[in-house]
Amino acid sequence: MTLELASNQGQAPAEKGLEHSPLAIRGLTVTYGQKPAVFSVDMTVEPGKMTAIIGPNGAGKSTTLKAALGIIKPVSGQVQVFGKPLEDQRARIAYVPQRASVDWDFPTRVIDVVLMGLYRELGLLGRLRNRHKARAMECLNRVGMHDFSDRQIGQLSGGQQQRVFLARALAQEADLYLLDEPFAGVDAATEKAIINVLKSLRKSGKTVVVVHHDLATVPEYFDNVFLINTRKVAEGSVATTFTAETLQAAYGGRLATAQVDQLTLAAG
Ligand code: ADP
Ligand code: MG
Repeated sequence: MTLELASNQGQAPAEKGLEHSPLAIRGLTVTYGQKPAVFSVDMTVEPGKMTAIIGPNGAGKSTTLKAALGIIKPVSGQVQVFGKPLEDQRARIAYVPQRASVDWDFPTRVIDVVLMGLYRELGLLGRLRNRHKARAMECLNRVGMHDFSDRQIGQLSGGQQQRVFLARALAQEADLYLLDEPFAGVDAATEKAIINVLKSLRKSGKTVVVVHHDLATVPEYFDNVFLINTRKVAEGSVATTFTAETLQAAYGGRLATAQVDQLTLAAG
C-alpha cells in the first residue's frame, strides 16, 4: 500500500531541479540493529519553504534528520546539500535536536549556549569578539530571551530552553534549518515565538525542515509535508499531499477516520 502511494504521489515537485534542492536524499537506509529504521528513502526539499516531516512514533523521522546531518552513518544512500556533498556544506545547516536528552548539571550560561553556534566560524582557538557577543544577544532577542542571557540554562523551563537552542541555530546564520520536534512540550508563548521566527527565516529565503508531531497545526504552519513510516509514504505540498489517504498510509489504524477527515478538511 505504501509503495503504491509512493509511486503515485511521492514524486518531488521538481526532480529536474535536484541541484538546487537545499536537501536531497537518495536511497537512504539506516539500521540500528537488524531491522531498518529508515528504508530506501528519497527526499527532495524545496528551497525557501517550510516542510513538515510527519509520521508515527518510531517512523524514522529523527533518524532521517540525523542521517541528513551526517550524525549517523547510513547503510546506503546519498545526501546532497545545495547540490553538493554534505561534507562541504555543513556550515550551511543549523540543527535543533529533540530536546530533553541533554543534562545541564554542568553550569552553562544561556549566552554561552548561543555562542556555541559560532564555533564553526571561530574555530576552536578563535577569539570571541564583542561583535560575536552582540550577534548572540541579537539572536536571543529574536526568540524573546534577551533578558535571560546570564541565567544558567539548566534553570530554565523546557520552552525557554527550546528558544535558546533556536537562538543558537540562528547565530550560525545557516541557509537550511533542521528542527526535531521543536514544539513538543513547550508552552503556548514559546510555540508562537518559535513559529514566528521560522516564518521570518522563510521570508528571508531560508529553508526550514521540521519534524512535527501535531497534525492539527500542519496546514497553518507548513507549505510542504513529507510522510514517513520507515519507508517514504508521500511528499509534496500540504494542499495535495496532506490527505486522508496519505495519513492513513502513514499512521494506519493509529488515527481514527473522523480525526483524519477533520485534519484534512483544515488543509482545504
Ligand atoms: P521517530 O523520530 O520517527 O520517532 P526514530 O528515528 O527516533 O523515530 O527511530 C526509528 C526507529 O529506530 C525506532 O524503532 C527506534 O526505536 C529505533 N532507534 C532510534 N534510535 C536508536 C538507537 N540509538 N539505537 C537503537 N534503535 C534506535
Ligand atoms: Mg524522533
